[in-house]
Amino acid sequence: MPRREAYDVIIVGGGIAGASLAYFLAEYNADVLLLERETEWARHSTGRSAATLSQLDPTDTVLELKVLGGRFLRDPPPGFSPIPLLRLNGTLTLYDQAGWQANRSRQPAVAALGLELELLAPDEVRARIPSLTDPEIAGGAWVPSDGRLDVHEILSSYLGGARARGVEVESGCGVTGFVRAGPRIVGIRTGAREVRARVVVAAAGAWNQTLAVWAEAAPIPLRPLRRCAAIFTPEHDALAPDAPLVVAEHRSVYFVPESGDLLMSPMDQGESPPCEPVVDDLVIAEGMERLALVAPELRARRVKRTWAGLRTFAPDLVHVVGEDPCRPGVFWLAGQGGYGIETSASVGRVAADLLAGRRSGLFDPDRLSPARVLGRA
Ligand SMILES: Cc1cc2nc3c(=O)[nH]c(=O)nc-3n(C[C@H](O)[C@H](O)[C@H](O)COP(=O)(O)OP(=O)(O)OC[C@H]3O[C@@H](n4cnc5c(N)ncnc54)[C@H](O)[C@@H]3O)c2cc1C
Repeated sequence: MPRREAYDVIIVGGGIAGASLAYFLAEYNADVLLLERETEWARHSTGRSAATLSQLDPTDTVLELKVLGGRFLRDPPPGFSPIPLLRLNGTLTLYDQAGWQANRSRQPAVAALGLELELLAPDEVRARIPSLTDPEIAGGAWVPSDGRLDVHEILSSYLGGARARGVEVESGCGVTGFVRAGPRIVGIRTGAREVRARVVVAAAGAWNQTLAVWAEAAPIPLRPLRRCAAIFTPEHDALAPDAPLVVAEHRSVYFVPESGDLLMSPMDQGESPPCEPVVDDLVIAEGMERLALVAPELRARRVKRTWAGLRTFAPDLVHVVGEDPCRPGVFWLAGQGGYGIETSASVGRVAADLLAGRRSGLFDPDRLSPARVLGRA
């Protein structure tokens, strides 16, 4: 239970979004309370990701946020974590003819951000990973600075750093409603208790729209989409343990070595309410079939574990960060999509700067403003 009756900022949700904001706000010595409904940390999207930094992105704003976020994760400030947060193994994204043309035309935008990218012809792709025998591969994009993230270490380092600077962090404490004074939200309810704040941050992942309904905030259109993943043992041990993430865009499947096995996602996007999503075995089986087209040697021998999680998107696929356009006192930190871990450091910093009334020059926060998506489907 919160120790005090009032704070400057209350953050609702202790996934990667809320935790990163708490960390960066604490740098400003802000008076902050973070509330997480579950007793177990990372129970929802944050604990269900594929744990990759994969910077190439079709949306320019997201690409930029990933590159900025990647810099922090590759080289965090002293004392942030005693162990590395990122294990470099690169990403190889594969395209068919149409996708290859589109990707090549984005080269200048990628280069302008300083992201190292090598374009590979099909024979160069196979020289790197001989099991990629799919004849549809027209080219590959190799990003060497990508890798696998230690999500639990990143989350606990954000929370630990925030606590060390005085942020109060409570798990097992759900927000059940808001306190209003005229048009303004001035606090939250948790059960029978009221706690006041200058600003309440909606960082509740797929549940942000539930919070918006309670607050009668702007109808920001956010869609939670379910995505499945599986760990499996392939028929042949054909990939080195440090092999890159392979994203076969043209077949809608990705895979990467994971503790002696392979992690695979069928890149599905099923509409879902905010919930504990259930795995669709058919979607997993279809993903395995597509993977076998990309690399027949890697056909699954045994599926060991499957799971599903929610990825929540705004209509333009860009994060939503800033004060609600209709309801003062509510601040959105939403729409982390399929990149909430890798963009946590850049987006958490932008949100903290906005709340603290600072302009760091890192990134123009207007590009993330809630108003831009109002009225869009
Ligand atoms: C299969 C899959 C693969 C993915 N792969 C990657 C990847 O490789 N790289 C990457 O960067 N991202 C990836 N993602 C996306 C990433 O997981 C999300 O973008 C990110 O975790 C979203 O974080 P969040 O904090 O917004 O949401 P969440 O982690 O869901 O956190 C929201 C929290 O709010 C809490 N909450 C809700 N309502 C209340 C309330 N009323 N009161 C208090 N607390 C409340 C919830 O309990 C929850 O803990 C993947 C996602 C999936 C599903």
